[in-house]
Amino acid sequence: MRNSWVAVAQRHLEREIRKILRDDYAIEVDSEMPIRYYLDFKNNERLIELKEALDRIERGKFGVCLSCGGPIELVLLKSSPGDRFCSSCLNSMHFSRGRHHDGHAHLEMTFTHQF
Ligand SMILES: [Zn+2]
Repeated sequence: MRNSWVAVAQRHLEREIRKILRDDYAIEVDSEMPIRYYLDFKNNERLIELKEALDRIERGKFGVCLSCGGPIELVLLKSSPGDRFCSSCLNSMHFSRGRHHDGHAHLEMTFTHQF
């Protein structure tokens, strides 16, 4: 289950990387080459963000909310693969800054938002 959405996210990331390389650098990615080979030479904020997201996939840390440890919604990761927080944590940070590090209250609040 989780593996399949991580695979979807990974394909999505790689597709976006290919598009940026093609549109901004006129580079067609050779599918025989690991995509990260192309990224080490680029100093592009979005590419770095995408590469870091791929790194987190490899380490099994991708899509894990740093605040509550729950999964980050795929829709968030698609628009912003560098996201480190799930939508409920982002919302609670937004609406109650300062309560973010209040562990128990925050965790309870977050878990009621899980689907
Ligand atoms: Zn969270």
